[in-house]
Amino acid sequence: MRELITKLEETGNLNQTEWIALINGRTPKLAEFLFERARAVRHQYYGHDVYIRGLIEFTNYCRNDCYYCGIRCSNASVARYRLTEDEILDCCQTGYRLGFRTFVLQGGEDAWFTDKRMAVLIRAIKTRFPDCALTLSIGEKFRESYKLFHDTGADRYLLRHETYNANHYRMLHPASLSAIRRQKCLFALQETGYQVGSGFMVGSPGQTAEYLAEDMLFLKQLNPHMVGIGPFIPHHATPFAMEKAGTLELTLFMLGLLRLMLPKTLLPSTTALATIHPEGRKMGILAGANVVMPNLSPQENRKNYSLYDNKRCMGDEAAEGLAILTQEMEEIGYHIVTTRGDSLVTIQDHNQELNLKDFTGGNENV
Ligand code: SAM
Repeated sequence: MRELITKLEETGNLNQTEWIALINGRTPKLAEFLFERARAVRHQYYGHDVYIRGLIEFTNYCRNDCYYCGIRCSNASVARYRLTEDEILDCCQTGYRLGFRTFVLQGGEDAWFTDKRMAVLIRAIKTRFPDCALTLSIGEKFRESYKLFHDTGADRYLLRHETYNANHYRMLHPASLSAIRRQKCLFALQETGYQVGSGFMVGSPGQTAEYLAEDMLFLKQLNPHMVGIGPFIPHHATPFAMEKAGTLELTLFMLGLLRLMLPKTLLPSTTALATIHPEGRKMGILAGANVVMPNLSPQENRKNYSLYDNKRCMGDEAAEGLAILTQEMEEIGYHIVTTRGDSLVTIQDHNQELNLKDFTGGNENV
């Protein structure tokens, strides 16, 4: 198996059979070898820097009904909230004082935030904080909306593909949502000029090594600026309440593989990883991750942005706990930096024609 890791590091590519063999053949010893190589590659491109993003969960209203997600529309037990423009700007101000130079606006697909309202909000943030990058994570939109937000000042967009395989996607989502539409959104975002982030949950119900192999092949083709992965964690008020959570071990292994496959991509050590293990955040960094996204939302709203049970949002997971996080990173030899932290992936790294080749089928227009 070591030879597959070496091949991945040298070429950035494995075929489907090799991916499956590597994922199924993993052992603690192999993982140690992988993480050592992933750290070497990470140090080559990003040194020992850890980039920070201030996460503002600005609405938990959502029109979608994803089977895994605690804020799905049919969960009537959630106390719904949406932040006002002033509240969002206050979050940014607090974050700015703490040293954040990237804000991530994340929310459910909330129809109250029309394109017009989003554009006003984006402009207000970018006018007040022109030296900061603004990332949106607000789901599937039409191409024109993506363009409007980008023209108004949004720099980056996070949209996990969740799972590449159409059958698996169908197991995780109602019929109104489809894998192909999600993927088309990602290509539309790239074409619009965003720095794009994608990703998937590890250990989601029904996931197999074959599906993970497809995720890796898809991400290689997409070549995103960022890849967010974290373990699936059940939420008590969803159809997947009784399903098992994804493991720390497999999530870390996939992080290491992603670093070798896409050396220049930004890889967050996610809150979900920190939720399933108290040291998860640090272990993610030691597996090749180089970004953390502390929570900047108003404290009283955090408990209601409950995507899964026991989500961590205080201490080192909170923007106000940045000093603790800084200390934790120092303990393992890494340093939080307060720059915008742009990805080293450039537009020249993309070959849109190649990317789009396989994605012209289907009738789900974006
Ligand atoms: N609505 C936007 C979207 O669709 O991209 C952003 C919000 S969505 C809640 C953010 C991410 O949360 C999803 O992409 C999904 O991977 C993750 N998520 C949702 N429920 C989860 C769960 N039970 N366990 C782990 N991650 C979860």
